[in-house]
Amino acid sequence: MKVKQNNLWEKTCKESCSFESLNGKSYQDIAIIGGGYTGCSAALHAAKLGASVGLVDSKIGAGGSSRNVGLVNAGLWLHPDKIEEHLGVRSGAKLNSILAKTPDLVFNLIDEYNINCESIRQGTLHCAQSKYQLQDLQKRHQQLSVRGASLELLSQSETRAATGVDAFCGALLNPNAGTINPLGYCIGLARAAQSHGAKIYQSSMATRITFRNNHWHVQTSHGSIVAKNLIIATNAYQQQIDGMGSSPSFTPMHFFQVATKPLAEKIAKTILPGRQGCWDNATVMTSFRLDNANRLIIGSIGSLDHQASSMHVNWAKQKIRKLFPLIETSIEHLWHGRIAMTNDHLPKIIKLGDNAYSVFGYSGRGIGPATLFGKSIVNSLLDDNEKHLPLSPVPHHQESFCNFKSKTIELGATLAHLV
Ligand SMILES: Cc1cc2nc3c(=O)[nH]c(=O)nc-3n(C[C@H](O)[C@H](O)[C@H](O)COP(=O)(O)OP(=O)(O)OC[C@H]3O[C@@H](n4cnc5c(N)ncnc54)[C@H](O)[C@@H]3O)c2cc1C
Repeated sequence: MKVKQNNLWEKTCKESCSFESLNGKSYQDIAIIGGGYTGCSAALHAAKLGASVGLVDSKIGAGGSSRNVGLVNAGLWLHPDKIEEHLGVRSGAKLNSILAKTPDLVFNLIDEYNINCESIRQGTLHCAQSKYQLQDLQKRHQQLSVRGASLELLSQSETRAATGVDAFCGALLNPNAGTINPLGYCIGLARAAQSHGAKIYQSSMATRITFRNNHWHVQTSHGSIVAKNLIIATNAYQQQIDGMGSSPSFTPMHFFQVATKPLAEKIAKTILPGRQGCWDNATVMTSFRLDNANRLIIGSIGSLDHQASSMHVNWAKQKIRKLFPLIETSIEHLWHGRIAMTNDHLPKIIKLGDNAYSVFGYSGRGIGPATLFGKSIVNSLLDDNEKHLPLSPVPHHQESFCNFKSKTIELGATLAHLV
């Protein structure tokens, strides 16, 4: 049975800002399609540098940026050695070193613009449930430590004290990371961009792009933006844009979350006294954290949009009982989001033509990276220098059997949640 979704972050988001819709023709230096972290960060950093910007979307934060877990982590899912293996040592080391600093970028923006998004910088915990998973964390710890990160590998008893969970045999604490209300952060970025003069348009989906007379023309139902530069920042949520050539190519993977009623303070203190955000490294992973009102939020791979979705919700209730037997498991919110997974789990920057890029494929690690990629693409466009890009752009990126892989992941997660 499909389940009715109600996203906690929409209910508790404290940031608000009004945005017009696009009517008529607007001439800008940069046109941006997509108002998630990538697009809003690009708009903010461009406007801050004095460029004129027009961004279009149906609604700010309509995609992954309003649905995620809110873990502001450094780096990507891949181990840093693997990143260097895929990209070559030089490019990989550049990406590793830039991504290590993304929590600073995010939390500094939150401070600078006073973004009201429940930000807590008390670290995140990557938890291991088996000796094998612990070895994986030890490897990650070692690889990050040689690159200068100060992470702490917690013992079983330290992990129990930090999470209130008996099932973990250890955890990797990154004290530099933290948690946010993801939608609050996204709207806060858009508000900050607007405060520097960026034009942020809602109810304005791009329907077509064309390149004429050295300018990009972004058409919406009631208007258009004409700009020398174009950024397409639609990640896993792109809706048809004619004239774009190929759409972003990736495997869609769904991740759902449920949130309990607010827990009594004395119970919340027993489960995550330090208020870190957590996830484990099982193949079908589980995430858990608290929000400011002490709701427990637990998530895993799965879509809430198909006939067997209730299995995911039942699994979540059982998982809460198993991990935290003291908690009353009344669920008040449940929602899911779509993740753009690439084959190598690395984001892609596509050079669409003169002064135009599309970026996608954060593979589930996008709060810091998307903020950074939006900023870097702007720097590259305004300085006409691709050295600012964290990754070399490619002319195309095509992956095969994406729908088949997506369905296989969903089937695997549903079966895993059944047993
Ligand atoms: C459930 C879930 C959990 C996650 N957890 C984490 C986490 O804890 N930590 C982390 O770092 N990352 C996490 N991620 C990843 C992170 O949320 C994404 O990588 C990030 O939000 C991507 O931002 P974005 O701006 O590129 O894309 P999005 O936020 O998806 O924004 C794309 C926007 O483009 C718009 N759009 C699409 N087509 C058009 C069009 N034709 N015209 C105009 N606008 C258009 C959409 O409406 C949308 O608003 C998670 C993702 C999901 C889905």
